[in-house]
Amino acid sequence: MSDLNPETRNYIGGQLVGASSGATFENVNPATEEVIGVCSDGTKEDMDAAIAAARQAFDETDWSTNAAFRGKVLRQFHAALEEAKEELRAIVVAEAGSPILLTHQVQTNAFIDAMPYFADLAENYEYESAMSNIDFMGMSNRRILRHEAAGVVGAITPWNFPLYLNLCKIGPALAAGCTMVLKPPPDTPWCATALGRLFAEKTDLPAGVLNIVASSDHMVGEILTTDPRVDVITFTGSTATGRRIMECAAPTVKKVFLELGGKSANIVLDDADFAKAVGFAGTTCVHGGQGCAIPTRLLLPRSRYDEGVAIAKAAFENVPYGDPTDPSKLQGPQVSKKQQERVLEYIEKGKQEGAKCIVGGGVPAHLPKGYFVEPTLFIDVDPDSTIAQEEIFGPVLAVIPFDDDDDAVRIANNSIYGLSGAVSSGSEERALAVARRIRTGTLAVNGGMWFHQDTPFGGYKQSGVGRENGVLGFEEYLEVKVMGLPGRP
Ligand code: NAD
Repeated sequence: MSDLNPETRNYIGGQLVGASSGATFENVNPATEEVIGVCSDGTKEDMDAAIAAARQAFDETDWSTNAAFRGKVLRQFHAALEEAKEELRAIVVAEAGSPILLTHQVQTNAFIDAMPYFADLAENYEYESAMSNIDFMGMSNRRILRHEAAGVVGAITPWNFPLYLNLCKIGPALAAGCTMVLKPPPDTPWCATALGRLFAEKTDLPAGVLNIVASSDHMVGEILTTDPRVDVITFTGSTATGRRIMECAAPTVKKVFLELGGKSANIVLDDADFAKAVGFAGTTCVHGGQGCAIPTRLLLPRSRYDEGVAIAKAAFENVPYGDPTDPSKLQGPQVSKKQQERVLEYIEKGKQEGAKCIVGGGVPAHLPKGYFVEPTLFIDVDPDSTIAQEEIFGPVLAVIPFDDDDDAVRIANNSIYGLSGAVSSGSEERALAVARRIRTGTLAVNGGMWFHQDTPFGGYKQSGVGRENGVLGFEEYLEVKVMGLPGRP
């Protein structure tokens, strides 16, 4: 057991409650394989109660129309998060196996710091505005354009960036005036239940506006996708589950907003500074490669292929990995035994399909405890092979040669995914020209960073539908209404 003092109860109808069955499930630290505690194992009945509470709060309180109050509650929540920051950081490291280094950015601090941005949006967004007058059948008409809360949101999140992903759904959905039910993944429940306690104890959030139901059973989450009382589904997770969610949401025609997988390409053009552009190839291994936007294909020009491979090899041989509580580490364990095995299967598949594994390729001998996988570098990868096409979600990079810029663009776009990527060149114009042709939602050009709370983030193709964060992300939680009135005489 740990000394984390986590919240283990769900949050339903304004109360911190154990599961209706009384059951709990174990939370395992992936770096040590130790059970660090338990969490209430939400049932179908608990989910039903949570949806009922969210529906009632939406229909019977002024939450959806009182923007100033929403801003106030989000600022209270921000203060509570600040106070609990170190506790939350420790939970992220313990249950997700995230390197502590990352918690100083996206894993913990970034979206705690972002909460005032969502409070500002709640308070200052122009919910109503006048459109220009129109003539219709010889009469002048005025129009009012109104944006209003979309209703009850079902939010389903994954384990890789658990605190961030919960916050980047709670922040804008509550700011927009929605009520919600959050269903976190079984691997990282405390990053959600901890937030329930903060809301319950440190804010004036009305009962039922936010409900949190952790469960070991994915099917408890599926109820959100079929229940007619839920208006919107916001989901982050695998493309396979995203497809299932779309299907389940179809009979009740829910608005479905999906942030899914990726297979991003890092394109290094022949005039790039290779030491910089390829030297950072090891960042594929950050957090065990368990990031949807991490570049997992490295595209190198044939004219400088051997040079690029040598730099990537050195980078992979020097990735600092191991104990995630050690601030010098970039890579911790995979989140679970299941994920570790899945990654190892992909590595075997890569070898069978003929790619050359020149670094790693297995479980590190010096880390017998924990679900670790060695930083693994494949070269001479066929762009159509499994490891170049499927999302591995591990510390595995596939190096693919290309002939010219057109070939690089073709290979990069040869994917069902379109989430992110990178382009480097000695000429910013050339890098931008290539970046404009890549069908993905975000791109790092010459090492530039795009991640921020006001950056709309999301994918083309099977990487998703809609955008998270920024004004566009906030508007995903709003419906649009137009009211026509007779023109003034
Ligand atoms: P997953 O799809 O297995 O699970 C995600 C969530 O969905 C969990 O809470 C799980 O309990 C729930 N779930 C599973 N089946 C369900 C069903 N039938 N109905 C409703 N809910 C269900 O994904 P994962 O393995 O937890 O996370 C890794 C995936 O998430 C990767 O593919 C990664 O690329 C993706 N991801 C995407 C983004 C993004 O913003 N695009 C961000 C982070 C992770």
